[in-house]
Order: sequence, then structure tokens, then C-alpha cells
Amino acid sequence: MDERYPDRRSGEGADIIHYTHAVVHYAEIGLKRGNRDFFEMALVKNIRRRITEKVRRTHGRLLISLSPESDIELIASALFKTFGIANFAFALRTKLDITEMIGASLELARVSDAGSFRIATRRSNKKFPLTSTDVNQKAGAAVVSELGKRVNLSEPELTINIEITSSAAYVYADLRRGPGGLPVGVSGNVLALVSGGIDSPVAAIQAMKRGCKCVIVHFHNYTFYKDFVRNKIIGLAKKLTDFNYSTRLIIVPFVDVQREIVQKVSADYRMIAYRRAMFRICEKIADREDAKAFVTGDSIGQVASQTLENLGAIHQVANRPVVAPLIAYDKSEILNLAREFGTYEISTLPYNDCCSAFVARHPATHAKQEVIEDMEEEIEFGPLIEKAIADAEVLVL
Ligand code: ATP
Ligand code: MG
Repeated sequence: MDERYPDRRSGEGADIIHYTHAVVHYAEIGLKRGNRDFFEMALVKNIRRRITEKVRRTHGRLLISLSPESDIELIASALFKTFGIANFAFALRTKLDITEMIGASLELARVSDAGSFRIATRRSNKKFPLTSTDVNQKAGAAVVSELGKRVNLSEPELTINIEITSSAAYVYADLRRGPGGLPVGVSGNVLALVSGGIDSPVAAIQAMKRGCKCVIVHFHNYTFYKDFVRNKIIGLAKKLTDFNYSTRLIIVPFVDVQREIVQKVSADYRMIAYRRAMFRICEKIADREDAKAFVTGDSIGQVASQTLENLGAIHQVANRPVVAPLIAYDKSEILNLAREFGTYEISTLPYNDCCSAFVARHPATHAKQEVIEDMEEEIEFGPLIEKAIADAEVLVL
């Protein structure tokens, strides 16, 4: 049981709060005027994919109706993973009646061991006869006199919020921070190039945070540890599905392309050639998947293939924007995100990416486009690309 939320099901003791609703606030989507309905509906839909409770839009916020069977812990963990949510709280709904609002405030204050508190009222219903300040004072006075807590407006240990809407008031104490961002789907589809490493799954989740629905593409040379690698990628894709709701995973055989590159491209340029070939294949997949951009885990200077010159030579062949959310992140920051998102454990299972096969120990770090183009001149990409796509495995997770 999550200690942050009193258990409303156990029914014993005086400190059980029977929350009636979860109040969910969004930040940025409230700002996009023309698209507001579209954004709110996407957020509602994404929440509904995770929980069975009723979710509705009202007065610039979402309300989730709780029943005695509702599992608060489960709902909280779903909301923590739903991009587009700025914050949320479990609340008591009351009538538009100051006595009820005070009663709810006392109920919340009573279960808290905080010594100091404040009441923060927001009144979107201007017809309610009391101002926010009136409500703050009345509810505050009751908490002081009944429970002996101290008012502290600047640094209270407990804040009790009262939101007064046109039909009811919602009273809550424990405002939880959501993951922020935009609801997945509102920015359209992208292809996320996901290796088995640490960076690319984090990059994909960062793209989801900006509303992108990710179709995952993985290139595999199938030479070593076929099932182990396949399972690892499926495991990662399942983790990403936590945020992406449902995921198309496309596993593309890369061995034939790679063999051709090994023959025609010198070892110091092979990594670059592999990644250029990946983008050429992705171009065709993106057409089919209606994807507007490519997402990679690139970070400037992290490895040899990621100097600006090399990234230039690689991204040059991409016919869509290459979005690299981690481009300016340090490895330690990326590791923290991987732990936070829950991808770290799978990503760190041992495995060699196909890009690391047959490459020079000291690859080119200042790739010249003319040089790679010259070597690629010998390769007939068309049939290789066709075959790779024809043999690709598509999984829906
Ligand atoms: P990662 O930790 O994501 O593997 P990396 O630091 O190892 O990244 P590279 O191996 O140079 O860096 O790969 C850079 C990016 O190229 C990856 O983040 C990923 O987006 C893409 N990529 C590399 N290998 C593959 C692969 N086998 N399948 C799909 N995408 C790949
Ligand atoms: Mg890698």
C-alpha cells in the first residue's frame, strides 16, 4: 500500500478518508486554445485506457469518479505515467455549502500530523456568495479551533485546497505532481529507432512526453543470441507501452545490408554507413506508418558516431526531421531518466548492438560526406531495402 494515500478501502479506524473523486489538472493543453477540445479528449482517452473509473471533463479540469472498490494506489500509478497531467489529487466532493466545505477540510486536517497549515481556495464559480478569502478564513478558523493547528501562509506543512466550481466543491490536501508534457498522440506518429541500449528507449519516452505516438523500429543482425536479443527488445517495447498505450514494434533484419556495407565501406566509416542505411529503410517504414519524424538516442559527443560531423553525415540521408531529445544530456542525466522510467534494468542486460559489429576500433570522428557517398556508390540499396522491409517482423504490444 502506498503510504502517500490513506487506504479508503480498509474501513477501520478514524483516519480513513473516503475520497469521492480524483481531480486532475493539466498545464500546457489548457493553453492551446484552438486545440483545447482535441487535447482534453486525448488526455481523457489515455486515462480511460488505464483505469475503469468514470473520467469526465469539467471546468478546465478532469474529474475521476471513485467508488468504494476503486484502488487509489493503482489510479495514482496510472496518473503518474500519463503525459499531459500537471498534477492531481484525491478529493472530497461537497455541495456548494460552506459548512460542508469546512467539514471536509477538518476531515483532511485531522488525518494529517502537520502542525501548520493553510487553506487555499479557488473559486471559478463567481456566483458562490463567499469570496475565496472568506472561505479561507472560515475553514482556517475551524481547523485552528477544533484541531489546534497553526496557520502558516508562507511555508505550511499542510495545504488544504478548496476548488469551488459551478456545481460542487472539491476539497483535497495532497496535491501530487504529474509527469507534465502533452497527451500521447496529439503530436502525431513518429518512428523511434530503438537499439538495446540505454539511450534510445529514454529518447522514445521523451518524445512521447511531447505528445508523439511512437512506432518502434529495431534493426537486428540475428547472428548472435537471436532469441535473447529479440526478447530484450520486446521487453523494452513493453516498458515503453506503459507510456505509449499500445505499440507497434518493427524488427528489421539488418544482416544482408550489413554484409554489403562490410564489403564496400572501410571499417572506420562502417558505423556511419550502418546508421545511414537504417534511415534509408526507415524512410519507407515511415511512409507506411504515417510517421512525421525519426527519434534517436543521439547525444553530442557521447560516442564516436555522435560528433557533430558524424551526426551530420548520418542525418543527411533522413528525409524527415531527426528528433534527438537527449542531444544535450549528459550520460548521468540519461541514466537517471532510465531508472525513473523503468527501462534501466532491461537496457543494461548484456548484448551487442548490430552497429558494433565489424567496425574499426578507432572509427572516423570527423566524417566527410563525400567520402561516405563515394564508398556507398558501389552499393545498390534498392533491393536490400525492399528485402529488409519484406522480411521485417511486426508485433503489436
Ligand atoms: P543507445 O544507448 O540508444 O544504443 P548509443 O549511445 O549506443 O545509443 P549508437 O549506438 O551510436 O549510440 O546509436 C545511436 C542511435 O542510433 C541510438 O540511440 C538509436 O536511436 C539508433 N540505433 C542504433 N542502433 C540501432 C538498432 N540496432 N536499431 C534501431 N536503432 C538503432
Ligand atoms: Mg547503442
